[in-house]
Amino acid sequence: SSWFADVPMGPPDAILGVTEAFKKDSNTNKINLGVGAYRDDDGKPYVLPSVREADERVLNKNLDKEYAPIVGAPDFGRLTAELAYGEDCPQLKDNLVSIVQGISGTGSLRIGAAFFKNFFPGEKTIYVPTPTWGNHIPICKHAGLDVKHYRYYDPNTCGFDFKGALEDINNIPSNSIILLHACAHNPTGVDPKPEQWKELAAVVKAKKLYPFFDMAYQGFASGNTTQDAFAVRYFLKEIGQLCLAQSFAKNMGLYGERVGAFSIVSADKEEASRITSQLKILIRAFYSSPPIHGARIVQEILSDSKLKAQWLNEVKGMADRIISVRQSLKDNLKKEGSSKPWNHITDQIGMFCYTGLNATQVEKLTKEHSVYLTKDGRISMAGVTSKNVGYLAKSIHAVTK
Ligand code: PMP
Repeated sequence: SSWFADVPMGPPDAILGVTEAFKKDSNTNKINLGVGAYRDDDGKPYVLPSVREADERVLNKNLDKEYAPIVGAPDFGRLTAELAYGEDCPQLKDNLVSIVQGISGTGSLRIGAAFFKNFFPGEKTIYVPTPTWGNHIPICKHAGLDVKHYRYYDPNTCGFDFKGALEDINNIPSNSIILLHACAHNPTGVDPKPEQWKELAAVVKAKKLYPFFDMAYQGFASGNTTQDAFAVRYFLKEIGQLCLAQSFAKNMGLYGERVGAFSIVSADKEEASRITSQLKILIRAFYSSPPIHGARIVQEILSDSKLKAQWLNEVKGMADRIISVRQSLKDNLKKEGSSKPWNHITDQIGMFCYTGLNATQVEKLTKEHSVYLTKDGRISMAGVTSKNVGYLAKSIHAVTK
């Protein structure tokens, strides 16, 4: 008999399943709003011109293909940390930041979760918002952390449940870990306002919780990388210690290159070097050393002020297009005669919009109108274009009136 005769069939991935169904549909008006990757106004994948330029420069250097250091190239770490924390961050100047290259955002989160499983001195429980990015829970559980939740999204307003979040965070046992989406919360598109972040930071500090930031969309939310880093930088200023997973998938469009970083800001320089030593030991066992090409592209962009300025402009272009299709979707719903309040479409930010459509409406939207999205009513705004927004609004109106 076979060794693996008892392996059960796993369920298909919720998001990839949407794309599979989309591909099979022959309706020429069909729209795929499931996948979280940026598309241009023609619905096509977009390689940023700054990334093309950096890619060419890297190739023209005829570099060798030797292994990178376990933590990635030193300049990569420095430049990535400067982007997140700001060039004038005192902790960076004082060498208090342990930073390692990660396999995009996912791998960076996984390194962090593994480090906490091994070394977090408090409760090995991480509190995540309800809802959160679907992969947060398996990543943390896979590392051996317990996962619990705090209220975040209010279905009545399609906005932030500030009161609920404060209440729940206040009730988290001290010395636990709290996961926070730095900006462009996935799947809801709902972010706290700066004043609300300040209150959240005060509670996190008072309760002695350890902040674990996931920043997968720096620049992609507002169009400005500094503005999108507000929460991370504010918490650091107020609390002094935190950790952060970064991804270059969205803001540089480097999805398949898998470039990211995990960093811990500690209170003591010597402690930082002990942390780095342990991160290296974990990474060695995971995958030995990180991939080099994508990291070289990031390094090329961030180290050249002219190319960096061009990139920042291109990030803004992507964010602006998304912001403008949000407006256009709302306007078109109104034009269709919808009397529903659609303000949340423009209040929410980043790649996704949590429409508030229920499962029945989502099913109708897909079956009768060939608009594909996940069951929770989340749509990827990146899949909306000036050409399909009219059809989308008509279809949403048809299933919500
Ligand atoms: N965190 C969040 C909140 C995300 O939305 C994503 C991408 N969907 C990631 C992390 C990581 O993505 P990647 O591994 O492609 O960088």
